[in-house]
Amino acid sequence: MKNRLFAMAMAIIAAVMLAFQPAQAATGYTQTKYPIVLVHGLFGFDSILGIDYWYGIPSALRSDGATVYVTQVSAANSTEVRGEQLLTQVKQILAITGASKVNLIGHSHGGPTARYVAGVAPELVASVTSVGGVNRGSDFADAVRGVLPSGSPITSAVAKVANSTLVALIQALSGNSSLPANAEAALVSLTTAGSTAFNAKFPAGVPTSGCSGGAEVVRGVRYYSWGGNKPYTNVLDPMDPVLTLSSAFFSSANDGLVSTCSMALGKVIRVDYGMNHMDEVNQTLGLVNIFETNPVQLYRQHANRLKLAGV
Ligand code: CA
Repeated sequence: MKNRLFAMAMAIIAAVMLAFQPAQAATGYTQTKYPIVLVHGLFGFDSILGIDYWYGIPSALRSDGATVYVTQVSAANSTEVRGEQLLTQVKQILAITGASKVNLIGHSHGGPTARYVAGVAPELVASVTSVGGVNRGSDFADAVRGVLPSGSPITSAVAKVANSTLVALIQALSGNSSLPANAEAALVSLTTAGSTAFNAKFPAGVPTSGCSGGAEVVRGVRYYSWGGNKPYTNVLDPMDPVLTLSSAFFSSANDGLVSTCSMALGKVIRVDYGMNHMDEVNQTLGLVNIFETNPVQLYRQHANRLKLAGV
């Protein structure tokens, strides 16, 4: 009798749990033809202690059909070094999945990093999407470079500390301590001068004048961009005061670290979301502007956009 009661209770619990399960996957809303590959920015990582850099984004994309890979390149290094690391990982993803191309989505320095791969291997890339991307430099990087000019002993001391502490810590915690660290090379890549030099070699999608957008398809690769223009968005997020301070170095609309003009690449979806640089990847831990479209939803919408574009 006791056993039967127990079995009945378990059956009821199971039925209730089943009823409250979220709607099962497979609406296909985010089911792109090619895998989506996420590329982090400066001081970025894939995941640390189980916390995603792309907070809650891979799971939200996967739940409706996308195949998603989160890459890890050097947390701080030049666009070219990071780009070569990404190219290697793209080839591995293609080998694992059997896909012929990938859809790259890069945040911040991840934008130019993805553009590098599309530049050297366009046949492997269906699309490049730059989110808060540093496509034409950052006024903040220029300001830091002004304080830390090339060849000065202070610069090498600061770079050494950054490489051996912050970058080393990020890479160790994310299980990628073997990646080379070069904070000064990262800084140079993110300056206006460094970006201009990079764009001369890899111009695809970059606006030739103004800030409205660039070529939308180059050598078979689709280019997209979006980003935010509001440095302070959530009183609970400890990063917002920091981004408000860094925002003071800009003379035009920005997300705290990148100007909206620099973000523009290919087809500009919008660069005036009420988001700061961290909100663009749903950080810190989902603390974003509650009066704006949720950033996770933007990634889902974009996966659907890619799907409808046949990639
Ligand atoms: Ca935030």
